[in-house]
Amino acid sequence: MKIAMLARNAELYSHVRLKEAAEARGHTLDIINTLRCYMNIASRRPEVYYNGEKLVGYDAVIPRIGASITFYGLAVLRQFEMMGVYPLNESVAIGRSRDKLRSMQLLARDGIGLPVTTFAHDAKQAEEVVKLAGGAPTVIKLLEGTQGIGVVLADTERSAKSVIEAFRGANVNILVQEFIKEAGGTDIRAIVVGGKVIAAMKRTGAEGEFRSNLHRGGSAQLIKISSEERATAVRAAKSMGLAVCGVDMLRANHGPVVMEVNSSPGLEGVEKATGLDIAGKIIEYIEKHAKPNATKTKGK
Ligand code: ADP
Ligand code: GLU
Repeated sequence: MKIAMLARNAELYSHVRLKEAAEARGHTLDIINTLRCYMNIASRRPEVYYNGEKLVGYDAVIPRIGASITFYGLAVLRQFEMMGVYPLNESVAIGRSRDKLRSMQLLARDGIGLPVTTFAHDAKQAEEVVKLAGGAPTVIKLLEGTQGIGVVLADTERSAKSVIEAFRGANVNILVQEFIKEAGGTDIRAIVVGGKVIAAMKRTGAEGEFRSNLHRGGSAQLIKISSEERATAVRAAKSMGLAVCGVDMLRANHGPVVMEVNSSPGLEGVEKATGLDIAGKIIEYIEKHAKPNATKTKGK
């Protein structure tokens, strides 16, 4: 197969590993800088240009589109889909998962466990929103945050109110969420490929830190997850329509709750923690499923 990978940084562990895994199986994989693709979007015969040349002959495309370039990246991916190239994850599904409100609403509709999560536009409703989320202590997070930046634990209703006012004053959107204290600074990331959990790790925050992000000094370890956790991850992936994703969950007293579904999960932490060849499993999945014009949506 000839595979295109939409990614900006060719040196990133995940991207190096996917390329290695594809080549080890006799495929070619070209890393294509998403932001350097250009195209005539009004043509009935969709095409994508790159470095002065038309991209042709690709069997599959692996989107590794960073959160900060979602808008342009999804347009490029849609163009590939319209050309009949098989996408590992569909543009529509990635779009769904990148919108935190939309994805939580969809997960809730499908009956998947979530932390109580509230949203309001206006800081005037701060007190009501905190009450709705179960009162202090409460977690306040930026809608567009990543790597744990912009996730704040407010111990009292007063501090929650001032954090909300500060964020809203800076004109950023936020969620107010029930604090799952019993998770103890640990979360679970399950990697789902083709409706199955192929790997799971737990991430534990640095001493005294409730956020478990590796970028915030957390550490990752292999974990055996329960069948309920496995089922939750699989259902969350299905609900988003993602073939490959990382599902982040917390162990709450009342069962697993999903925090986020990541359509381009990083492979380094999880491959190192589990010793598994996840990149290989992803390429294997593509081998089984890449057929021309196989997208359900064609970008619609
Ligand atoms: P990001 O997308 O920036 O990583 P998350 O929403 O995943 O932000 O939060 C970062 C970390 O903070 C999580 O991995 C988890 O350890 C912790 N955390 C987030 N929300 C909650 C919550 N409601 N209760 C307890 N811990 C939380
Ligand atoms: N971008 C990383 C991922 O999606 C975040 C890892 C982390 O900070 O936990 O896996």
